[in-house]
Amino acid sequence: MASKQDFVRLPAPDGVNGWWESLPSPAPANTATGDHRFDFVVVGGGITGLCAARRLAELAPEMSVALVDADRIGRSTAGRNSGFFVDLPHDISSESYSRSVEADKADVRLQRHGIDYVRETVKRHGIECDWRDDGKYHASVNKKGHTALTHFADGLARIDEPCEWLDEAAIGRVTGTSFYKSALFTPGCSTVQPAALMRGLAATQPSNVTIFELSAVKAMDGRGQTKVLSFAAGRIEAKQVVLCTNAYAATFGGHPNGLLPVYTFASMSRVMNDDEITRLGGAHSWALIPADPMGTTVRRLATNRICVRNHFAFRPNVSVSAADLAKARHLHQRSFDRRFPMLKDVELQYTWGGALCLTANNGALFGKRADGAFEAIGCNGLGLSRGSAAGKLIAEHALGQSNALIDQLLHQPHPRSLPIRPIADVAVSAAIWVKEFSAGAEL
Ligand SMILES: Cc1cc2nc3c(=O)[nH]c(=O)nc-3n(C[C@H](O)[C@H](O)[C@H](O)COP(=O)(O)OP(=O)(O)OC[C@H]3O[C@@H](n4cnc5c(N)ncnc54)[C@H](O)[C@@H]3O)c2cc1C
Repeated sequence: MASKQDFVRLPAPDGVNGWWESLPSPAPANTATGDHRFDFVVVGGGITGLCAARRLAELAPEMSVALVDADRIGRSTAGRNSGFFVDLPHDISSESYSRSVEADKADVRLQRHGIDYVRETVKRHGIECDWRDDGKYHASVNKKGHTALTHFADGLARIDEPCEWLDEAAIGRVTGTSFYKSALFTPGCSTVQPAALMRGLAATQPSNVTIFELSAVKAMDGRGQTKVLSFAAGRIEAKQVVLCTNAYAATFGGHPNGLLPVYTFASMSRVMNDDEITRLGGAHSWALIPADPMGTTVRRLATNRICVRNHFAFRPNVSVSAADLAKARHLHQRSFDRRFPMLKDVELQYTWGGALCLTANNGALFGKRADGAFEAIGCNGLGLSRGSAAGKLIAEHALGQSNALIDQLLHQPHPRSLPIRPIADVAVSAAIWVKEFSAGAEL
């Protein structure tokens, strides 16, 4: 059976990824030209695919594994996020990030499993990606935000997770700005330089993994055991295929599969000079999430840059326009200026977007499909920790293992189907607009 639906949308250069730009130039890519055969092919070299390929190779050292990506590994979405490996409940469609006690506990179990796997890999291989186990601050800018934080704290108490309140002065001492009125510190979150992490995870794959970059899969043919993946100038025959293409797997029109490619955007400042660093004050490095999920995420980086993220846009074709990027940059500059009036000369050097894969019911795709391929798709905005876990666990599942977390993923809700376009476009865009509007001052 031809499965061209899976590959109709390919990564586009959506702005300039500041994390990638601040790394040294990579070695030339190994591209998929000519004919190849592998036991396993993992499609998608984001965090999910990187963990899937590693786990397959670890558990089956006698098997050959290919990991293919349409872009350079680290330049696409997994290398262009804000770098939070979130352990706690983080449902961005909920006003307090929380769901029910059972759902929250299940999320925490899964996310910590993913974080532990990547942290252990980073430590074992000495991957230089500024991995920090320093926790995160959830900060509010007004009474409404403080109330949302109170609900989040209540949700954490219900699942026995610790957190610590900071008043205006205390969060000001961390961030250097008087913009925030209160904050909750949660200790379990890790942060990274995401492009460096993805490159490091690629460079340290076991020796039975071959990586192909700048190699977009155009089509997959074959039902059951053997599949043929076609590229612009080559093909790979595979006994098993694992799809980790996240938002790029979204299909609309005749076959809506419930995956929503929703873009979010980030900007990174230039490096601050000594005078600017003194004017800002605060801690050398910190990571902050807004009280309202639609607000602005901010990181102060050890490299003396500041990274801000906000704004969402539903883009079913999985690419953004120059106008989208210009709007995002304008919003980022406004958010930056409001928080850091003492840094009025520090311009934003890079602005970019990346596609999240959201679903209306927080469901995701995990397991074996009717055509025999395996899939782990649907990050719901938390791909670093959830994708790490889903990638590792889909590999274990594909090799016939079973455990409680695989069961948890197999039994999670399937993404709820959406109305066909253009009804879906209007409904999703309107929902985003309403939520962003209500985030107000948190932007
Ligand atoms: C600005 C921004 C900030 C974010 N902040 C955070 C955060 O702090 N924490 C967090 O957890 N998440 C965050 N996210 C979301 C996070 O980046 C995603 O959840 C994560 O990247 C999902 O990982 P993935 O491997 O499942 O998918 P992706 O990273 O999307 O990887 C899929 C890969 O598949 C490849 N691909 C697609 N089609 C093909 C094809 N036909 N052939 C070959 N390759 C193909 C793509 O090139 C891509 O590399 C953020 C996202 C953005 C954009």
